[in-house]
Amino acid sequence: MVKFEYSSGILFYKYAGGRRLFLILKRGKSIDIPKGHIESGENIYTAAIRESFEETGIKSEPDPFFRHYLTYWLKGKDDAIKKKVTMFIARVSPSVEVRISDEHSSSEWMDKEECMKAMHFKQHIQLINHADLYINKKEELDKINADYARLPKKDGFALSHRFVPGEGPCDAEIMIIGQAPGANEDLHLRPFIGRAGRLLDTMLKHASLRRKDIYITSVVQFFPPENRQPTKEEIEMCLPFLKREISVVGPKLIICLGRVSSKLLTGFDDIREIHGKCYPVKLLEVPAECFVTMHPAAGVRFKKNIPLIRRDFAKLKNIVKEMNSKKDKSESKESQ
Ligand code: URA
Repeated sequence: MVKFEYSSGILFYKYAGGRRLFLILKRGKSIDIPKGHIESGENIYTAAIRESFEETGIKSEPDPFFRHYLTYWLKGKDDAIKKKVTMFIARVSPSVEVRISDEHSSSEWMDKEECMKAMHFKQHIQLINHADLYINKKEELDKINADYARLPKKDGFALSHRFVPGEGPCDAEIMIIGQAPGANEDLHLRPFIGRAGRLLDTMLKHASLRRKDIYITSVVQFFPPENRQPTKEEIEMCLPFLKREISVVGPKLIICLGRVSSKLLTGFDDIREIHGKCYPVKLLEVPAECFVTMHPAAGVRFKKNIPLIRRDFAKLKNIVKEMNSKKDKSESKESQ
């Protein structure tokens, strides 16, 4: 019989002397990362925060989107145990104090190269590599956002001055590109949280997709007053930032919501003709495809559009299934 056990933990990182350092725990010669069992009443997130606090004395708020999964087998009394561990990352202050528990003998802050030399488990090495790449992307996106948020200083800027950043995993395989934030998004500074956002969430469920696995942004990331369409000039002004955003995240599939986004990425104008299918991305030298569907706001405004959008998302479900099965095949080839 195979039993499953679930744990979670946090890989802490900080900066010191211009170096990015990861917190490693030691027990004799063995190397560990703060993690432990999910207790009853906890979820993976709260368990990771509690466990890592017990093992290091560090209180933290992990990045809401990074996830890395470790799986390994343990020998139980009578059963084989398959352990699944969800790892988060959290940045901590350079002066953070580490207080280890009795479970470990010491702790050390190591840079990536030092981790590579010290670690014995391939899965730990993969975690460090994944986290390091993710943090690079996160910091690159922070820079893009800081530049982008300064656009309202330009003469004649006629959009809201409140910048709505993209949201989601910085290395997401799927990216959604809408048109521009609405009044709700402008208020809360988050994309797709109004009525169109709620319809989008429902459609994503139809496609068996989870919003938290997707990076969500828009062609223009400032609210156009009175909910008007962004002008050609405004789209052009925002385009360099969108291109940078796409190339940092590096999605395999981009979902274009509505005419503005799909025309920009595919070059085709008539969304009624082209929706429900995949096209190569024209905008960028990225090996991504884009799937075109109508903007959920069109479903909120005219209910007759909802079945059509639902059919598109049913097609999307199959496209993503195929994309994932190709990925599984190439990963299993790589590990052979
Ligand atoms: N519509 C969009 O196109 N983008 C948002 O962020 C919200 C609504």
